[in-house]
Amino acid sequence: MSRYLSDKYQSLEAYTPGEQPRDMRYVKLNTNESPYPPAPGVVEAAGREAQRAQLYCDPVCAELRDALAARYDVKRANVFASNGSDDILNFAFMAFAGAGVPAYFPDISYGFYPVYAALHGIEARPVPLKDDFSIDPADYLGLDGFIAIANPNAPTGMALTRAQIESILKANPNHVVLIDEAYVDFGAQSCLPLVAQYDNLLVVRTFSKSRGLAGARLGFAIAQEGIIADLERIKYSTNPYSVNRMTQAAGIASLARDDYNAENCRRVIATRERTVARLRELGFEALPTLANFVFARHPGTDGGWLYGELKKRGVLTRHFDAPRIADYLRITIGTDDEMDVLFVKLREILEA
Ligand code: PMP
Repeated sequence: MSRYLSDKYQSLEAYTPGEQPRDMRYVKLNTNESPYPPAPGVVEAAGREAQRAQLYCDPVCAELRDALAARYDVKRANVFASNGSDDILNFAFMAFAGAGVPAYFPDISYGFYPVYAALHGIEARPVPLKDDFSIDPADYLGLDGFIAIANPNAPTGMALTRAQIESILKANPNHVVLIDEAYVDFGAQSCLPLVAQYDNLLVVRTFSKSRGLAGARLGFAIAQEGIIADLERIKYSTNPYSVNRMTQAAGIASLARDDYNAENCRRVIATRERTVARLRELGFEALPTLANFVFARHPGTDGGWLYGELKKRGVLTRHFDAPRIADYLRITIGTDDEMDVLFVKLREILEA
């Protein structure tokens, strides 16, 4: 940190992204990426646009938003797109909290939420998960601030039902309720059908997980027009060209083959169910998950130690050194072959 950094950022603790090491080829089960490549046609579409990279991209993302609107049966004015859902989450904290409006989110959830709050001088009010790591909707009724909930939650993988989220929307009519559906395509109920009814609902989605485009950085949000206009205002006050032309084209091409993406989600779900069963056979306690990862611990081993032993053997997982979850490992669901490698290594470690 230099002596020039503004006082307002002196105590800011940045988010730590999952490691992307380059020293060797790992079985990479640490950042919830898809194990499958992007849909047919995506690479070609992005390549065609790369040849016109001397020109700025469309700041409106018109074609992409129209494709998303058609896919989700809404209008272009209900769709916002930006540089990964992280970008949109950041904008939402900026737009809908602060200046006396606190931000509520589960105490164990996506690690970026408290960082956005700190970045924008927003008072963070973490709400403890229940002992079983579930979210109690009753804790979110009648609050006086912005609410952000990941559904399914990360790193637990546990999900609320649409009806439970609707109870939260109803009980907070004067504040935005952001539902982060980064992992919803792996089996949880989406809140999108509630958008028409609730003008305080903001659903945030991403192409990073279920569409295999994490490296392209494409997130989108669906809400009523007013909320989308607010997000546009923030985007046009920071970087109007936040989705580059290759990525816009990639997104459109990916949506044209959403059958391929859906099939990959089915494969991930099938592998996940097998993985959870195998983990339990090995003595792990695994939380019930509807995401493309599983949060599990092995009684008698330390999460950090197990993470290290797996990494030594070429398997990357994610460990969070935080209260209540330090025993756990978050394991992304890869291909069946990748999970086979994981289990070979786990047996080796646990038998030693
Ligand atoms: N929300 C949650 C809950 C996540 O786990 C992630 C992935 N780190 C994101 C949002 C951000 O995803 P992206 O910026 O790649 O769209």
